[in-house]
Amino acid sequence: MQDISNKIREIAGHLLAENKVEAVVGFRPGTIPLISAPTVVRTEAEAAGLHWDRFCGVNLANYLPKRTEKMAVIAKGCDSRSIVGLVVENQIKRENVYIIGVPCTGMIDRAKVMRVAGSLEVELVEDGEQVVVKAGGKESTVALSDILQDNCQGCQHRNPVVFDELIGAKVDETAGGDIDTAVAKIEAMTADERWRHFEEMYSTCIRCYACRNACPLCYCEQCFVDDSQPQWCGKSTNPVDVKTFHIFRAYHCSGRCTDCGACKRACPVGINVRELTRKLEKEVKGLFGYEAGLSLEAIPPLGVYTEKDPQGFIK
Ligand code: SF4
Ligand code: SF4
Ligand code: SF4
Repeated sequence: MQDISNKIREIAGHLLAENKVEAVVGFRPGTIPLISAPTVVRTEAEAAGLHWDRFCGVNLANYLPKRTEKMAVIAKGCDSRSIVGLVVENQIKRENVYIIGVPCTGMIDRAKVMRVAGSLEVELVEDGEQVVVKAGGKESTVALSDILQDNCQGCQHRNPVVFDELIGAKVDETAGGDIDTAVAKIEAMTADERWRHFEEMYSTCIRCYACRNACPLCYCEQCFVDDSQPQWCGKSTNPVDVKTFHIFRAYHCSGRCTDCGACKRACPVGINVRELTRKLEKEVKGLFGYEAGLSLEAIPPLGVYTEKDPQGFIK
């Protein structure tokens, strides 16, 4: 990881010193344990503070829309797919973004570390596929794969799909799981069981919109949930309003979600908001053979109509 940090600093420093970009979006060490913080640097000296580790989970594509300056951005596989999505949806211009790609072997989930160590004041020492967790004078060893974020455990696009410069060698794309496994639990339920599961899962939602705000797809000036004329969705934490919000949100993301996990990570009450979007991505893949963010040319299926579109759902 130190090698990657050094290389990021070097590339970012050169880009800024040579005025190839006006700013670089990357990470710096966080101020709370086990989270590296997004940062924007504008000088070669500031670039020396850039950082990379297994806690750089935040999707930096979220920082690109609505900017007028030429930016460079550090992108993992999922981030690069979000950047592709933003280009395809005309939210950013490809020529205005210099992509520094980082092949990725997964980001660590701090909640899983917390469950192992009972504390976030830990030291993690990676040793191949194992991680030694040191906390409170005790040590335990866990498999790295067991403490990765859920989306990383099932990721099949670990290498940036588009980049101007790549740091290090590409990694094995097939090390993750697959989308069928990811949604198997939900699909095994009856419709009634699924609805109860959905109701229970969202029963603790406080409508803070952190999941929406963390998502690079949610770039609308005025979100439907904030509209009052017309009011598409009630604004309370009444269960009907909560479910309406989440169903609308998931459908707005369908065919566009890159499974970066930002929505789930952002939720302060631990709701697995990825569950709905994963299932919708599987449906879109099955119906249209489309996965979000893999092509700068293909328009997301729900953004275009053709007479050959599957229509079996129309009764
Ligand atoms: S989803 Fe894939 S590319 Fe994104 S952080 Fe996880 S392993 Fe890396
Ligand atoms: S819906 Fe969640 S997982 Fe999908 S792109 Fe948005 S933040 Fe990432
Ligand atoms: S982040 Fe969590 S609590 Fe906040 S609106 Fe989303 S699901 Fe609800």
